[in-house]
Amino acid sequence: MSLTAALAYARHGIPVLPVHTPDQGGACSCLRGARCDRPGKHPRLRHGLSEASTDPRQITLWWFHWPRANVGLRTGVVMDVADIDSAEGWHGLRHLLADDVPAGPWVRTGGGGRHLWFRPTGFGNRVGLLPGLDWRGAGGYVLAPPSKHATGADYTWLRRPSAGLPVSPAPLLALIEGPPPALRDDHPITHPDRYAEAALDAEADRVARAPVGTRNDTLNRAAFVLGRFVGAGLLDAATVRWELTAAARHAGLGTAEIKGTIRSGMTAGRRQPFEHRPRSAA
Ligand SMILES: [Zn+2]
Repeated sequence: MSLTAALAYARHGIPVLPVHTPDQGGACSCLRGARCDRPGKHPRLRHGLSEASTDPRQITLWWFHWPRANVGLRTGVVMDVADIDSAEGWHGLRHLLADDVPAGPWVRTGGGGRHLWFRPTGFGNRVGLLPGLDWRGAGGYVLAPPSKHATGADYTWLRRPSAGLPVSPAPLLALIEGPPPALRDDHPITHPDRYAEAALDAEADRVARAPVGTRNDTLNRAAFVLGRFVGAGLLDAATVRWELTAAARHAGLGTAEIKGTIRSGMTAGRRQPFEHRPRSAA
C-alpha cells in the first residue's frame, strides 16, 4: 500500500509528495484524463514539489484523500537519482564507469528504465547527461515503489535501500558538473592550449592539497577532468600522468594507488573529450 511506503520514506527524511495515478487504460487521474501528456507523473498538489513533506500527519491526510496516489520523492535531500530510461542509457553509464556501477538502491521503473540512488551531489537536475540518462538532484523528484506507470507496470525494487548510499563516482560527477566555464559554448576559447595548461595546474594543486579522506576521490576526479583534455588533444597524456603523480605523492598517497587511480580516471575522461572549436583568429 502506497501510504505505508510513503510514511517509510518520510521516516528516512525523504520529503514525499502525492502524485497523480494512471488508471488501467493509462489515463491520468487529473482533469485532462486520457489527454494528459504525463499520465501518473505529475504532483497532485497545487504547489507541487515545494509542498513535499516528511510530516507523517500531513502524508496520512493526503493519502486519506487519494489512497491510490503515486509516491513522489523529492531528490537532492537524502538522495540524488540517476534516471535511466533506455538500454542505451544503461550501457552508456556502464561504459562511463568502466563497468563499475556502485551497488546502491536500484528501482526498475514502470516504464522499463532504472533509477539508481546516490548520495546528494548538491547539483540540480541535468537532462541528457548521456543519451538515455538524466540526473535528478536538488529541485527534482522521482517516482518510487509502489507507484504505477501508465503502461500498468509497477515501480519495483531491484535492490532495496540498506545502510548508506554510494557516492557518485568521479566520472559521473564530472559530467554532472559540466565542463569548466571557459569550455562552454557561451565562452569561446581563444587559447585552448593555454586554458588546458591552467586546468592542469589547478587540478594538480587541488590534488596536492587534498585532505586525508578525500585524496583518492580528488585524484580520480582530476584524472578524469584532465583525461577529457587529453581526449580533445589539448594536453599530453604523459605530462598529465607525471604532474598528477607528483601532486598525489605530495598529498601522501601510495604509488600503487596513485597509478591505478590515474589510469582509471584518465581512461574514463578520454572517452568523454571536451569539445572545443579552435578559433582561426585570436
Ligand atoms: Zn495528468
